[in-house]
Amino acid sequence: DNNRFQAIISHCKEYGFIFPSSEIYDGLAAVYDYGQWGSELKKNIKDYWWKSMIQMYENIVGIDAAIFMHPTTWKASGHVDNFSDPMIDNKDSQKRYRVDHLIEARIDELEKAGQQDQADLLQQQMDQLLANSDFDGLKTLIENNKIVCAISGTANWTDVRQFNLMFSTEYGAISDGSEENKIYLRPETAQGIFVNFLNVQKTGRMKIPFGIAQIGKAFRNEIVARQFIFRMREFEQMEMQFFIRPGSQKEWYEYWKEERMKWHLSLGIPADQYRFHDHVKLAHYADAACDIEFNFPIGFKEVEGIHSRTDFDLRNHQEYSRKKMQYFDADIDPETGKAYGNYIPYVIETSIGVDRTVMMVLSQAYEEQDLSTEERQDSRVVLKLPAKLAPIKLAVLPLVKKDGLPDIARELMNGCKGSFRCFYEEKDTIGKRYRRMDAIGTPFCVTIDHQTKEDGTVTIRHRDTMQQERVHMNEVKAMVLGAIG
Ligand code: ATP
Repeated sequence: DNNRFQAIISHCKEYGFIFPSSEIYDGLAAVYDYGQWGSELKKNIKDYWWKSMIQMYENIVGIDAAIFMHPTTWKASGHVDNFSDPMIDNKDSQKRYRVDHLIEARIDELEKAGQQDQADLLQQQMDQLLANSDFDGLKTLIENNKIVCAISGTANWTDVRQFNLMFSTEYGAISDGSEENKIYLRPETAQGIFVNFLNVQKTGRMKIPFGIAQIGKAFRNEIVARQFIFRMREFEQMEMQFFIRPGSQKEWYEYWKEERMKWHLSLGIPADQYRFHDHVKLAHYADAACDIEFNFPIGFKEVEGIHSRTDFDLRNHQEYSRKKMQYFDADIDPETGKAYGNYIPYVIETSIGVDRTVMMVLSQAYEEQDLSTEERQDSRVVLKLPAKLAPIKLAVLPLVKKDGLPDIARELMNGCKGSFRCFYEEKDTIGKRYRRMDAIGTPFCVTIDHQTKEDGTVTIRHRDTMQQERVHMNEVKAMVLGAIG
């Protein structure tokens, strides 16, 4: 499946979806730019998530917080002390590895070789050592399992060290390298929501349970980042923090697990492409956590995390800022017969990566088809994207560049382009134009031909089936709107 993965990466570049960042300078590792069609796809994903969260749930609102935050934020959140991964360097190859990735690669190998017992044992040992931050033990585990053989053939490792993943820069005019001027690029969007919790709750007169959602950039200095847009150093997140009564977290955690899975299935992706993975080793802030994993060409991997974050964040911000982070709950507690009163809310978080969703949707959509017949060889690459996410919804193609056909095409185009993204093209054979539209996932192509001049009908071609039907020009817009609605 690595071939398929490489084919998707090439396709993304060739068809204007995703380019390596600053490519003329040979790129920047783990940073990517979205091209003309990739940016449309990404935007459609964000819009769909935003609509699903903010428009469909009446008790969720959105914000857009700054990337820079007061440095104390990251002390309170635990990121200064805890947001790090254990890493190890191979002294011979001078390569750096995340310890868990290195061991997981070995577990995968064992599983592929049918040695499931050994794989499970190694997994258990790793989880235990990571949970205890036993770095010497981790190093021994790496050496004893000859993970090195797979990597470089030698066993010359450094000690295991912690590596903080936050990027920092200097803030303001004085750049003296001092700690006071140090500021971080946010490694998650969640803290922008927590520090604004009371602003939003009060000005929006929000009643618990309620959610605050946000889409924005996050930055992590990932140790190893070489899986295309799966692991980037600059990426985007779509996060929602749901504020609830303490003690109700189990129910809400289950609720959001289900709701989020429904969202994934609403993309038309079959359920067997997903699985839940419960966390054994919990992050410093969580009392329950799981990932929604998608079956990427590189295996089942996390696309979204659902975390029961308790009151960890709000409580710490209260402590560090000395500002009350409490909510007054006037509802009556049936057990005591009195109002619930003041408390720091608990939080369930849903956090999904935009870029990983792009990669998920592309992996699911990408198909190489052999269309050969006895007479001739033929093939196509088609992106079977959900119509609502496709960069272009409708291609308008006059059969020839003359006889007034372009004018009719323009007329149709002008009637539709205010409602959804259209694309006009008159160059090349109609077959070539269809193929180009297949390759970027355009669900509908309309061809204007000589018959159109007579009776106003056009040929509409469906991307996935390649079926064509004759409909009146006036029906096209409603057809497309129906499919993307
Ligand atoms: P991983 O275990 O893969 O490093 P994580 O558990 O650290 O991910 P979270 O902190 O839960 O990830 O972040 C929520 C979501 O943000 C992830 O599910 C993923 O979709 C996305 N994400 C996190 N790190 C990256 C990254 N380096 N590049 C792209 N997306 C990311």
